[in-house]
Amino acid sequence: MFIDHEYIENLLRNAENATNEDIEKVLDKACKKEKLSHEDIAILLEIKDENLLSKMFKVAGDIKKSIYGNRIVIFAPLYISDYCVNNCVYCGYKRCNDFNRRKLTQEEIKNEVMILEKMGHKRLALEAGEDPVNCDIDYITESIKTIYSTQNSNGAIRRINVNIAATTVENYKKLKAAEIGTYILFQETYHKPTYENMHPKCLKGNYEYHLTAFDRAMEAGIDDVGAGVLFGLAPYKFEVLALMLHNDHLEDEFGVGFHTISVPRLKKAEGMDLKLFPNLVDDETFKKIVAILRIAVPFTGLILSTRESANMRKEAIEYGVSQVSAGSCTGVGGYKEQEEGKDVNQFSIADERSPLEVLKGLIDDGHIPSYCTACYRSGRVGDRFMSLAKSGQIQHVCQPNAIMTLQEFIEDYGDEELKEKGEKLIKAELNNVQREDIKNKVTENLEKIKKGERDLFF
Ligand code: SF4
Ligand code: SF4
Repeated sequence: MFIDHEYIENLLRNAENATNEDIEKVLDKACKKEKLSHEDIAILLEIKDENLLSKMFKVAGDIKKSIYGNRIVIFAPLYISDYCVNNCVYCGYKRCNDFNRRKLTQEEIKNEVMILEKMGHKRLALEAGEDPVNCDIDYITESIKTIYSTQNSNGAIRRINVNIAATTVENYKKLKAAEIGTYILFQETYHKPTYENMHPKCLKGNYEYHLTAFDRAMEAGIDDVGAGVLFGLAPYKFEVLALMLHNDHLEDEFGVGFHTISVPRLKKAEGMDLKLFPNLVDDETFKKIVAILRIAVPFTGLILSTRESANMRKEAIEYGVSQVSAGSCTGVGGYKEQEEGKDVNQFSIADERSPLEVLKGLIDDGHIPSYCTACYRSGRVGDRFMSLAKSGQIQHVCQPNAIMTLQEFIEDYGDEELKEKGEKLIKAELNNVQREDIKNKVTENLEKIKKGERDLFF
């Protein structure tokens, strides 16, 4: 199995004696954008010295800026079913939690999507518990069709990433045919004994089957896969190295590693007690994890959800995170029921601001929020995407696309304050577009958007 526990434990043991000089060497390597070895990453995980920590955050921040500029991609989760046959110790949807479970009808999905579109969302992460009877693959693909076909004046969902349980090649082929964006699956923990303890007596308890899900997804032709660890289950140093091993395995086998990595932290959920988890990650360590991942896999998107507070999100964006959710509900039918507060959520959220507020906050901090979904729709996926990203060419399209999607948002969902802040930023960003031909085209497109045209992209 490609997650060799002994190999990881040895890397960690050897790195324990790393000197400040060893750490400096790795940081210099990272500064030069050289690929880091597993040994290098293990050394970074040992940083304790305050000065070296600050240096690492600076290196991570510089890498982030050079690859992603000041753009932040925005998305929202959509929970369509909380039926679940699993018993994950840490989750509010586990089967032993007794509550009225449900899945949305296609009509209800349509209503949720209309609300999300009214918030300005273009990119969704579709979420569902695992239940082969109540929530089978045909229900998922039908729901995807409903989402893509629901349009609400200028609103449209242009990319659906899908986060559903590990499944068969045949089912992944169905997801591919339904035109999903990224297939997302969290390993939760790569540490096998912890994994088995966390998933007692349930379908998801098969570590190997879960771990090899991306192999089956890629075999089925899915181009982009998104990994994730639920930080807080097993020791974080183990998890970070295991993520690297998993990424390398996919690169070796399929020529492309993770498109994204999500970094959720264990939070309080219905029917679980945080005190029972000895490996919880504190804020300082969490920031360290984000920075190390940014340095280790510079071209992989890092995703942060509303589990984290506005302040933590602000910091994590500075040195690593490239995508955030906004205005999220983590319950089935949650967008409609937001006001009632009756639903059982998969986990608690900490950032409850609306997308409009999130956008204003990002702009105040000098970031440009982006609703871009262009790559997926232009066929820039999988290894084609990665080679463009690694050559730096992608920059020429990301920035103009961010500018144009922000203008769309301002026109359709903004208030006076956003208009003022956003248009000032757009003007400044336009001046930063390096290629004159692209700058002219964007200027032309901004006028078209103001006159009502939509969905213009490079
Ligand atoms: Fe079910 Fe997923 Fe929750 Fe586990 S984490 S109980 S599989 S919804
Ligand atoms: Fe993402 Fe591609 Fe859009 Fe850039 S151009 S923001 S990489 S979808």
